[in-house]
Amino acid sequence: MPGEDKIKKIIDNSGIKNLKIYHDADMRKLFTFRINAIIPFLVIPENAEALVSLTACLLDNNIEYFIIGGGSNSLINDLNKNIVIIKLGRLFDSIDFKEEGSIECGAAYNMARFVTECYKESYNFAFLAGIPGTLGGAVAGNSGTKFSSICEFVDRIECLKIKSNHVVKEEHKLRKNDFGYRFLNIENLLAITKIYLKKERAEKELVFNEILERIKYKKASQPLNKFTAGCFFKNPLNSNKTAAELIDSLDLKGFQYGGAAVSKKHANFIENFKDASSMDIYNLSRIIAGMVKDNFNIELENEVKIVGF
Ligand SMILES: Cc1cc2nc3c(=O)[nH]c(=O)nc-3n(C[C@H](O)[C@H](O)[C@H](O)COP(=O)(O)OP(=O)(O)OC[C@H]3O[C@@H](n4cnc5c(N)ncnc54)[C@H](O)[C@@H]3O)c2cc1C
Repeated sequence: MPGEDKIKKIIDNSGIKNLKIYHDADMRKLFTFRINAIIPFLVIPENAEALVSLTACLLDNNIEYFIIGGGSNSLINDLNKNIVIIKLGRLFDSIDFKEEGSIECGAAYNMARFVTECYKESYNFAFLAGIPGTLGGAVAGNSGTKFSSICEFVDRIECLKIKSNHVVKEEHKLRKNDFGYRFLNIENLLAITKIYLKKERAEKELVFNEILERIKYKKASQPLNKFTAGCFFKNPLNSNKTAAELIDSLDLKGFQYGGAAVSKKHANFIENFKDASSMDIYNLSRIIAGMVKDNFNIELENEVKIVGF
């Protein structure tokens, strides 16, 4: 794998059009954990062609990369200087209400705006209210609640895949076994660029009230005003307790490691309460997972995507 200097040369000399390149980007602006550190490479492809050329170039040169949306479910190791962060540009940030029941949405479209725009058109996505990030990030992790998740409403995605060593753009029709509880698993998928959703219209007032209810519930139960990335662990499928209940039963609320702490409000949230480094958060997550394993013999799986550790 090439080192930082070589990566810089490759990206700077790639000649890819419609590609914005930033060196030493501020992580606080990219990830909701708001870690005060620098990312050596942030690249923003402005259209699908630039994204195809970029991913092909990175794959050809064996350079690790990570695509982000709102960075609200990701933890990247800032000490690892050999990762290129890709964030989709403005052209991936659109929504279109097509014929009855069909919605087309760019992968970089903001989730809160999505819920609101859908409400205006009488589509009920209230279960997503209060979840930060982008539609692409949500589909990539099948975000939602215990009642509903986004992929249930996705008909197909426009995406990049790797096929016979080439990056190709294609549409993929979602099948039931492509997704499950907080995962999407499509072979050779590199990036999602657009999402085609199907949904029946609902009573507008009902949608409005459900959005309010959902936000009220989240405000009451989750530390929405702190620097977190949502639930850190998935709920274990082999337990009748949630990850939060297991962690709470070990009296870990408020437990600190460096600048990171288990939220006092919701035991499955890790907060950056005071200048936490990526490593603080990562180490705290390992301590929690280790204690749950030792005490309950349950392996907690990360819901937050961990990169570069
Ligand atoms: C306060 C708070 C509350 C939350 N509540 C919930 C909740 O109730 N339910 C829930 O499910 N989640 C919740 N989350 C987690 C998070 O907001 C969601 O998972 C969200 O959908 C992630 O979107 P994002 O764009 O920020 O993803 P990112 O963190 O940017 O990325 C997440 C993953 O998606 C991949 N990805 C992103 N964009 C693309 C793309 N275009 N193509 C391919 N892969 C891509 C990334 O590589 C990464 O693996 C919460 C987070 C916070 C901070």
